[in-house]
Amino acid sequence: MFRMFDCVIVGGGIAGLQAAIQLGRYQHKVVVIDSSDGRSNLCRCYHNVLGFPNGVSGQELRNTGRRQAESLGVHFLKEKVEKVSKRKEGFEFKLSNQQFVHGKRLLFATGVKDRIPLLSEIKPCLGISVYVCPDCDGYEIKDKKALILGSGDVGANMALTLHYFSKDLTYINHERKPISESVKEELENKKIEYVNSPIRKVITEGSQLKKVMLEDNRVISANHAFVAFGGNKVNSELAEDLGVELYKNKHILVDQRKKMTNVEHVWAAGDVVAHSEQVTIAMGDGMQAAIWIHKTLLSTQ
Ligand SMILES: Cc1cc2nc3c(=O)[nH]c(=O)nc-3n(C[C@H](O)[C@H](O)[C@H](O)COP(=O)(O)OP(=O)(O)OC[C@H]3O[C@@H](n4cnc5c(N)ncnc54)[C@H](O)[C@@H]3O)c2cc1C
Repeated sequence: MFRMFDCVIVGGGIAGLQAAIQLGRYQHKVVVIDSSDGRSNLCRCYHNVLGFPNGVSGQELRNTGRRQAESLGVHFLKEKVEKVSKRKEGFEFKLSNQQFVHGKRLLFATGVKDRIPLLSEIKPCLGISVYVCPDCDGYEIKDKKALILGSGDVGANMALTLHYFSKDLTYINHERKPISESVKEELENKKIEYVNSPIRKVITEGSQLKKVMLEDNRVISANHAFVAFGGNKVNSELAEDLGVELYKNKHILVDQRKKMTNVEHVWAAGDVVAHSEQVTIAMGDGMQAAIWIHKTLLSTQ
């Protein structure tokens, strides 16, 4: 391992890997530090990515991306970064194994963590029969029966958005958080069935959703569902501690052209940045950040 890396990438999901591949091709000394619990670890099938008409899993993209980056000399550490501190020359990273890594440039590609209360039950179905994002997977329920498993207005608004794709929707307000009157009225106008009850059990067969059993033992069958509980966490605390400017929803703000933050030599890419949360955008961000990181490294050589 190097004493000082040219660039430390925090997060080895889609954005971090794309940046690593590009920086590896410039032959910079790069390390990706990744705790492997991101969205690309969860999604078992992306359906809207160019070149993959039958879909591709997050794990497959990650494994292939990592091999590609490693073949270019990029290092990988499976750790969580606990703290980042500014130093005279670059940055110091404290890892969960209590070791330290140093780098001249820093790319945050730390993503977002979804709040999914029923995660253990629906994990095998994510991206295949249970979805989180209407822009990604609304098409998968086109003219089909689907459930929305959610909480309060967040779940109700997901149901209203999905009405564009299907008229056969049932919204189950699992956490029974209140719904505003105007939203309730819109659900009624659009004939979206509303069930205000906790879910006892989700019944699946492999990656296929089958049924949802409610606390009162009612059973609702469906082959597709969306989850929308709200309270997703943007992984931007390390950046905030360094003085990086955040948008009001905690996503990182970057310069549109260079993907650099307001803090010199700190970049951000992927879902942690304020924009639509998509694989192809994460790739584009990672690439663009890498190009500008390279330019600034050249100017100091
Ligand atoms: C179920 C599901 C289905 C989806 N379907 C689609 C789809 O069909 N099409 C689409 O375009 N998008 C889809 N998405 C969104 C897509 O997964 C994200 O846009 C994409 O993963 C963003 O990549 P990223 O690199 O920004 O973040 P991630 O892939 O989440 O990677 C971030 C990485 O950073 C790591 N990390 C975070 N903090 C630290 C730290 N402190 N130290 C070390 N490592 C850290 C995490 O462990 C993780 O590995 C879906 C998401 C989910 C959850």
